[in-house]
Amino acid sequence: MFNNIIGNELNKQVLKNIVKNNNISHSYIFAGISGIGKFMFAKEFAKAILCRENVEKPCNNCKSCESFNNLNNPDVIIIDEKENSIKTEQIKDLTNNVLEKPIQGNKKIYIINNSENMTKEAQNTLLKTLEEPPEYIIIILIANNENLLLNTIKSRCVTITFNKLSNDEIKQYFKHTLEVVDDNMLNAFGGSIETALILKNKKEIFAQIDEIFKNIENMNELQILNIKDTIFKDKDDVFYILDYINTIFYDKIIKNIYNAEKYVACIKIIENTKLRLKKNNNYDMAIDNCLFTIERSLETNG
Ligand SMILES: [Zn+2]
Repeated sequence: MFNNIIGNELNKQVLKNIVKNNNISHSYIFAGISGIGKFMFAKEFAKAILCRENVEKPCNNCKSCESFNNLNNPDVIIIDEKENSIKTEQIKDLTNNVLEKPIQGNKKIYIINNSENMTKEAQNTLLKTLEEPPEYIIIILIANNENLLLNTIKSRCVTITFNKLSNDEIKQYFKHTLEVVDDNMLNAFGGSIETALILKNKKEIFAQIDEIFKNIENMNELQILNIKDTIFKDKDDVFYILDYINTIFYDKIIKNIYNAEKYVACIKIIENTKLRLKKNNNYDMAIDNCLFTIERSLETNG
């Protein structure tokens, strides 16, 4: 069990024991940043719970494991967001569906991916099922940010917290594919395989960011505002780019502690920009404002 998943060794043991001792709760939260394997853990856990072999679960041989591996085990239901949120209707479907007994085995498992994106109404709808679950039901909420879940939901679930992966674990993951990346980049992965997979193909843009931001104090206003046309072209990458810029500012603080104030201000500006973009503020305006404020901040703080 979990042989193909890297990291979070303690959780592997915890989940193995739960299956071995058949000490399964009705609802779990798998919490932790995205890209560290929570969903894979949940699937493997579900497969093991449903496996009919008694010695080594999951056996990958029994009828349940076989249908699971073929993605057609009728007793596993995966719910995911639609257009960035999990809607009340989706959870209403779930609350109706839980009333039907398992088809193939004796348990029925629901995995709600990105569960923090349930609307408040959806969460309240789910709450009723969590309060009185039919005995054959197990619900696993995958949460990248469990703080967005209602306390009433959290209090009904057993929370298992997943840690970000170490740089060594990430290197291990990419053992056969990853070219050599420098430590700054490895740090930018932030312990997330998902981020690493996206960023490892973008070394060029990161080199560009390095080049620009290592020297940003000496740039004039026009040069700073021009940055937009080079590194902020691709909207899809903006959060990774902003995070990477912050790793450079953190680096500057460490190397230049007596002048830290202005870099702290820059980090705040970047974090603010992330917030604005998450609230769907106009992209161009948010980036223009970010660069303009950074420029001013570097200038006034000398
Ligand atoms: Zn099996």
